[in-house]
Amino acid sequence: MDADKLRCSKGETQTPKPHDLLWFPDGNVVLATDLYLFKVHKSLLSLHSSVFKDMFELSNVGHSAAGESAGEKLQDSYDGLPLITLVGDKGEDVVHLLRAVFEIRYYDYHSDETTLESVIALLLLSTKYDFKDIRTNVILQISRQYPTALKDFDLVDDDKTLLFGELREDCRFALLGAAYRANAHVLLPTLYFACSKTSIQHIIEESTRRGVPAECLYALLEGRERLLLNFYKQAASTERIVESAMTHLTCIGGDNGSLSCLRDLLLSGVDFGQMSTDVNLHFARRSPELFGFFNQACETCKTFMEGRVTWKRNDVWDKLPSNFGCLNWDVIQEQLEEMAKL
Ligand SMILES: [Zn+2]
Repeated sequence: MDADKLRCSKGETQTPKPHDLLWFPDGNVVLATDLYLFKVHKSLLSLHSSVFKDMFELSNVGHSAAGESAGEKLQDSYDGLPLITLVGDKGEDVVHLLRAVFEIRYYDYHSDETTLESVIALLLLSTKYDFKDIRTNVILQISRQYPTALKDFDLVDDDKTLLFGELREDCRFALLGAAYRANAHVLLPTLYFACSKTSIQHIIEESTRRGVPAECLYALLEGRERLLLNFYKQAASTERIVESAMTHLTCIGGDNGSLSCLRDLLLSGVDFGQMSTDVNLHFARRSPELFGFFNQACETCKTFMEGRVTWKRNDVWDKLPSNFGCLNWDVIQEQLEEMAKL
């Protein structure tokens, strides 16, 4: 058939053009998208993708409907070569995928500067077409920025830094939506958590703008609610913990016969409830009030309170996956280790 009869997803007639780079003279199959045609090699695609491999094998024995279940439709031919329309895939996204396959230096998963658009296209399309190595690499790349251990997350968790060519805070919803759609379970708890650190209004606006699926948004909102409930419970119990700690802490800093720094601070109206972790888990690192307290307290009381905060932060983190209905950390870490070995 003729290329100008291909229709784009909006139903308007559009003529996809041969792509500048991905048009190899000795290619033996033409892939068609809304914008571009790609003349590439079946053997290389088959090597990396089980979906393409099956599609080509079936088309060789003459079944024209071979790939339809995966969303592709086999068309007739283009200049004597088999023509396959990749239904539902954007040309620009397919460019990222094919360049990752055909240009060895195009995609470096060790980098944090791959564009967000590219990272998302690679994750979604490598999943759809089962490009195993690319999928593994992109998951590991995202996982470095949304890791499974709190101490690692603390090292990267700064909303105003650049990630994948954007502000980090502008990446999280797009990544969550893509990870959810790509069944990248190992990425979900940390991404859910990163997305829950903002207002409901922002969550809903960003989820809509970034195409986060409805079920994913529900899980996010439910998990965020559980985190908040847990926070309120902890806040309510902290003052009691401090009072009971005073009975066995040997404070070395209390002035003029007062029994302890903690008691002095309780009497001065410091709200110890505020020293539990908040939904951001930020308190221990970022709060001026907490640093103010730590600087006033003696070493013993300071160590005690720091220990409490650290314990609570870890406790919240350990329970993150269950809040969001995800696989637990042990399973996720095992899967990530397997992926890193390949
Ligand atoms: Zn003290």
